[in-house]
Amino acid sequence: MTVFSDLIGQEPVVETLTNAVTAARLITSGGESAAMTHAWLFTGPPGSGRSVAARAFAAALQCPNGGCGECHECHTALAGAHANVDLVSTDKLSYGVSDARDLVARAALAPAGGGWQVVIVEDADRLTEQALNALLKALEEPPPRGVWLLCAPSTEDLLPTIRSRCRVIALRVPPYDAVASYLAREGIDPQVAGFAARAAQGHVGRARRLATDPTAASWRREVLAMPTQVATISGCFEAASTLVAAAKAEAAAVSEALDEDEKAAVRQSYGDLGGRGAPKPRGVAGAISELEKRQRSRATRTQRDVLDRALLDLASFYRDVLMTQLGAPVDLINSDLNQTVRSIANETYPEATLRRIEAVLAAREAIDTNVAPLLAVEAMAVTLRAG
Ligand SMILES: [Zn+2]
Repeated sequence: MTVFSDLIGQEPVVETLTNAVTAARLITSGGESAAMTHAWLFTGPPGSGRSVAARAFAAALQCPNGGCGECHECHTALAGAHANVDLVSTDKLSYGVSDARDLVARAALAPAGGGWQVVIVEDADRLTEQALNALLKALEEPPPRGVWLLCAPSTEDLLPTIRSRCRVIALRVPPYDAVASYLAREGIDPQVAGFAARAAQGHVGRARRLATDPTAASWRREVLAMPTQVATISGCFEAASTLVAAAKAEAAAVSEALDEDEKAAVRQSYGDLGGRGAPKPRGVAGAISELEKRQRSRATRTQRDVLDRALLDLASFYRDVLMTQLGAPVDLINSDLNQTVRSIANETYPEATLRRIEAVLAAREAIDTNVAPLLAVEAMAVTLRAG
């Protein structure tokens, strides 16, 4: 195994990164090579493994064996705990301009042991504009051993000035069978793994959850019940409100655990022991209210992400209906709903199914441009009924 073993179905990417690691070693021993550079941008759809690729690359740059996946350097780097690897993720909410300046300063440090000082920024598309500007200066004049690894869904998500300074590593949606055999190697029943890989449309993390977490599986079934619930107008509104409420609940479950830990960490950093009647340390109330503001915006974002996932599932259902109507010789994505797909396919025509797919994609776009989720989903549900 190597550090790249967890990258599924991304052979060309692994080859580029392996060459860069070889080049990096050549450079540290006094040579020259264009295969290594100071700024990289990892793009790819959610679940394709952007941050897995970035972490693996960071580890390989620290490993004396070029990324064996087994030594201390590899282990600590993959876990984001290596002294020469800084890992920034939006979960930690540390994306303001002062954090970016802090990162820029750390990237400029000479790395311990003479290797490479790596900063990984997950979800670089969520950096504030000021943070991006602080970053831009660092990308313009990179320190000799500093490496920036930015991750974003696509190159369009970053300012052209940032993007033009990065070498782009584009990950693809991994093939279903590659995802299935990866999950099977983790001990998941091959048949369940095969189904989950298709139902998750190649999204590795989601496929794993569908195969192992009953809540995720039942939430998916609830979403995919919508096409059978939109026969009446009242059914449309009911289905829409159920969907949005469920997305809210699922997102809340994710956020709440994080929120409390973060608040405790802030209180502790101000020396607030929380004793009854004890005076509050100066500044703690302001810091907590600033944190709560950011937590609220994260909760909204998570809810939108969960809802977007549900709409993709719905689009895949109508895709199955369309394939059935056209008699296309392809496997269904939602093979467990074979019967429902067939009966809806028999009730309508391909043109109507295409309009329904368009309605689902329009709802995604509307939510992406900040239309209230319930409004967008209700409009979609009514269009689904009209068929
Ligand atoms: Zn190693």
